[in-house]
Amino acid sequence: MLDQPVRYLKGVGPRVAQNLARIGIATIEDLLFFAPRRYEDWRYPSPIAKVKVDDPQADDALVFGEVVDAKLNRASRQRSVFTAEIRDDSGRVEAVWFNQPFLVSSIQPGKKIYLRGRVERSKFHGRFELQVRDYLLQNGGKPSILPTYPLTQGVYEKRLRMWIESALEEFGKNLTEIIPPPIRTRLGLLDRTTALKQLHYPKTFEEGEFARRQFALEEFLILQLALLLRRSLFHTRVKGIAFEVSEELRQTFLNALPFSLTSGQTQALVEIEGDMGMPHPMNRLLQGDVGSGKTVIAAYGAYVAVRSGYQAAIMAPTEILVGQHRVSFEKFLSPHGISVVVLTRETKGKTEVLKALRSDEPVVVVGTHALIEENVQMGKLGFVVVDEQHRFGVAQRVKLAQKGKRPDLLVMTATPIPRTLTLTLYGDLDVSVIPDRPPGRPVVQTNAVTEEKRNGMFSFIKQKISKGHQVFVVCPLVEESEKLQLKAAEKYVKELRLIFPEIHIGLIHGRMKGADKDKAMSTFRSGEYQMLVATTVIEVGVDVPSASIMVIEHAERFGLSQLHQLRGRVGRGRREAYCFLLGDFKSGDARKRIGAMTKWSDGFQLSEVDLKLRGPGELEGTRQSGLGKFRFGDLLRDAKVLLEARKVAEEILSEDPYMRADENRELKKEILKKYGDTFQFGRLQ
Ligand code: ADP
Ligand code: MG
Repeated sequence: MLDQPVRYLKGVGPRVAQNLARIGIATIEDLLFFAPRRYEDWRYPSPIAKVKVDDPQADDALVFGEVVDAKLNRASRQRSVFTAEIRDDSGRVEAVWFNQPFLVSSIQPGKKIYLRGRVERSKFHGRFELQVRDYLLQNGGKPSILPTYPLTQGVYEKRLRMWIESALEEFGKNLTEIIPPPIRTRLGLLDRTTALKQLHYPKTFEEGEFARRQFALEEFLILQLALLLRRSLFHTRVKGIAFEVSEELRQTFLNALPFSLTSGQTQALVEIEGDMGMPHPMNRLLQGDVGSGKTVIAAYGAYVAVRSGYQAAIMAPTEILVGQHRVSFEKFLSPHGISVVVLTRETKGKTEVLKALRSDEPVVVVGTHALIEENVQMGKLGFVVVDEQHRFGVAQRVKLAQKGKRPDLLVMTATPIPRTLTLTLYGDLDVSVIPDRPPGRPVVQTNAVTEEKRNGMFSFIKQKISKGHQVFVVCPLVEESEKLQLKAAEKYVKELRLIFPEIHIGLIHGRMKGADKDKAMSTFRSGEYQMLVATTVIEVGVDVPSASIMVIEHAERFGLSQLHQLRGRVGRGRREAYCFLLGDFKSGDARKRIGAMTKWSDGFQLSEVDLKLRGPGELEGTRQSGLGKFRFGDLLRDAKVLLEARKVAEEILSEDPYMRADENRELKKEILKKYGDTFQFGRLQ
C-alpha cells in the first residue's frame, strides 16, 4: 500500500507529484519517511521591540502578534508583495511576503499570527521589516516544535507538512515492523508508527532525534544485512573456481621477484591464495596506502589463475594507469612466460585482442572501462582485479565479474577510508590490509610554499636535479575551457624551460592521445625528461620510482585525499623525497588541508581529517558506490549507529544465515526491494 504513487493522496495532483518527484518523493512511503532537515522551535516568540535590532539573531526571529493591517501590491502577474502590520505589547513591525498573493485571503486584520524570518532595515523606507520565511496562524492551541524539510520549487513548507500529515493519518497507522521484536526490545526502539509520528511531530528536540536515529539504524541494518548476505552466499553457497595453489608455485613466483615482500604483503598474499584455492568465489578488498606495493600481489593472483588455465582481467580507471599496470604486470609475469594484453577504447588491433579474450587462451588483460562493454566476451575469465575501486562502483564490480562464471575478485584501493565508509562501500568483501611499506622508503618532506619563496624552491629543485632527482609538477587545469587550460599548461612549461634551461621538460595532459601519454610517461620513466608537468592525470597510481620531488600548483584546489594520492607518487625509491604545495591557502578549509598534509604522512590519519572537513557525502566513493543515498543516516554523525547496525546484522545472520525465519521476513523483503538489483541475490529469493 505504501508503494502507491503520491498522487493517490488527497490534494496531490499530477503537477504537485511532479514537483515532489524532484526531491525524491514518488510514493506514499517516500512521503511518510521524508526526513526533516531540522526542527524549529515555535514555542517562545520574542517581543517585537526586541528583535528590531541589527544583530545576527534577527536572521531567524520569531514573533507573535495581531494583524492590524494587510495589503497586497502587485507588480505583475508573477511578482507581488504582500505586507501586514503586526502588533504586540512591545511594538509593531511590518511583515513582508514576496510573490504569494493568495495570502490575502487568510492573513487578515484581527488574526493572531506567529511569524518567523529575517528582520532587516528596508532599503526603501529605512524602517525595520520582517521578511517572512514561515508563519502560523493561531487556531487555538499553542504551536510547538515543527520540522522543516528540504524543499524545491513549487513545494512549500506548509503544504508539505500538510501532505505529510494527511499521509500519516491515512497510511501511517499500524505500520509493519521490520526489525524483529527481541532486537527492538533490546535496543529500546519505538514501534515504527510512534517513531514516525515523533519524527514529524516531536514534543522535544530529543524525540525527533531519537526517531531519526532509529530510522537510520533501520537503513544501515538493511544495507549491512545485504552486504553480509552477499558475502556469506559467496562463501558457502555459490560455486566458484578452486585454483591450484601450492608452496612450490608460490616459491617460483617469489624467487623471480627483484625484492622480497614486506610482512604485510606476505600476509595479504597468503589470504588471497587461501581464497583462490577454495571452491567459492573470492570477494576481497586489498587495502594499502599509496606505495605499499599492492600491484605485485594482484600479479600473483593473475599468475595463479593463468597457471590453472584461466584468464585474468585487471580494470583500472585511467589510460595512464593501464599503461602503467601493463609495465608492472609484464615485469612480474614475463619471467614465467605469461604475456599481457591491453584493452582500452583506443587500443589498436582491437579485434585481435577481443578474439584472444573470447577464446579460452589463458591471457592476462589490463584495461579501462572498455573491459565491461557489451562486445567484450571472455572465454575463461577466472580472476578479476579492480584497481582504485573508488572510481568505479559496486555495480561495475558485479558487471566485470559477470564476464566470467563466478571468477575470483580482488578489489584494490589506495584511498584509505574510515571504517564507517569501508563498512558501507565494501561491507560485502573480506579485507586484507597492507599496513607497512617497503623498507627504506623515506617520509616525503612536505612544505607549503608562499609566492615569495617560489624562487628559493626552484633553486633548491635545480640543485637536486643536478644530483639526479626527477620532478613531477602538477598543474591543475584552472581555466574554464579546456583549450584555455591547455594554453595555460603550455605557457607554464615555457616558463619552466626558461628557469631550467639545462634540462628536458615533458608535458602530459588529459587531451593527449593514449599513445602520446604513454610516450611522455615512458620518456620520463627512462630519465630522459628530468621534469614532467602534468595536469591531474597522474593522480592515481602512477609508479615512477626515480621521481622524488612533487610540486603541486594551486594545491588549494585539491581535496585532501587527492593531495595525498599525488604526494604518494614520490618517495617510492630510497632517496629522500619532497613535496611542495603552492597556492592560496587563505580559506579556512584550504589552510586545514595543507596543515594536515604537512603534519601527517599517514593516509588513514588524513582520511579521518578529510571526513571531518568534507562530510561523507562528498567523499569519493559514496557518490559512485551505486548504493544510493540514506534518508536518515549520516555516515559522519551516525558512526555509532552504523557500527551497531553491523553488529546486529552479524547477530541476525549468525542465527539465521539465509534469513528464512519468519521473524526476519520483513527485513528480507526490504533488502530485496532496496538492493536486489545491485547485488543480484539470485539464490536468496
Ligand atoms: P601501490 O600499492 O601504491 O599500488 P605499487 O604496487 O605501485 O604500490 O608499488 C610501489 C613500488 O614499490 C613499485 O615500484 C613496486 O615495484 C615496489 N615494491 C613493491 N613491493 C616492494 C617490496 N616488498 N620491496 C621493494 N619494492 C617494492
Ligand atoms: Mg597502485
